[in-house]
Amino acid sequence: MATRGPRLVILGKQGAGKGTQCVRLSRHYLIPHISSGDMFRVELKSGSEAGERLNKFMRAGELIPDDVVIEVMAHRLGQDGTRDKGFILDGFPRTTTQAEALFDHLDTAELDMAIDLQVPTDVVLHRLASRRVCQDCGQNYGLGKIPKHDGICDRCGGEVIQREDDTTEAISRRLNLYEQQTEPLIAWYLTRDKLVTVDGLNEPDVITKRLVRAIDRRLEWGQVRE
Ligand code: AMP
Repeated sequence: MATRGPRLVILGKQGAGKGTQCVRLSRHYLIPHISSGDMFRVELKSGSEAGERLNKFMRAGELIPDDVVIEVMAHRLGQDGTRDKGFILDGFPRTTTQAEALFDHLDTAELDMAIDLQVPTDVVLHRLASRRVCQDCGQNYGLGKIPKHDGICDRCGGEVIQREDDTTEAISRRLNLYEQQTEPLIAWYLTRDKLVTVDGLNEPDVITKRLVRAIDRRLEWGQVRE
């Protein structure tokens, strides 16, 4: 039976629904969802000196320097038998330098695929402007989903806020950076025969089914499980 789950990278613009889908995929395949943004937000919240240094990049919607990101992610990938279990990486890699570092760390063959979750820019802009998030558990709210009690998370009772980097200026900076720095990764993975493209426009349940179908097909899942 299963020896390991898939090793995945998910790419897509901010607001494409990566976070929501990664949580679902993580449950479906029983693999850890490793979100670089969540890890940095935890560091920031801890009030540590390292968190303070990240603050200025994150507030402005700028990328944290590659060397810092690579060190943190290499450490995380080395924990708890992550490589053996499989994983889903969300928000990392975001630059070609980070993608190369990941390949050096894992070996090319160890990554099963990079999924490009495609959603048009006007749709993500609309979603990001209305996005709210629980500052305790990270649950996302937005267009079709609002907390039952205003400003209070349904899941944990934490405060539901607008992310500091979901301001108009920071959003447009982050989308520009995505275009300049992260979109080239799509071609980068394509030339390494790792790219799978999934249309991210529809209800979350439909997208999850599309993703699972695409992943299973690509892995020829039955064989990987033997
Ligand atoms: P996210 O939640 O993925 O949108 O990430 C929030 C912020 O964390 C980004 O705007 C960056 O400032 C920082 N960040 C997260 N992941 C990375 C990464 N791989 N490289 C550089 N900065 C990152």
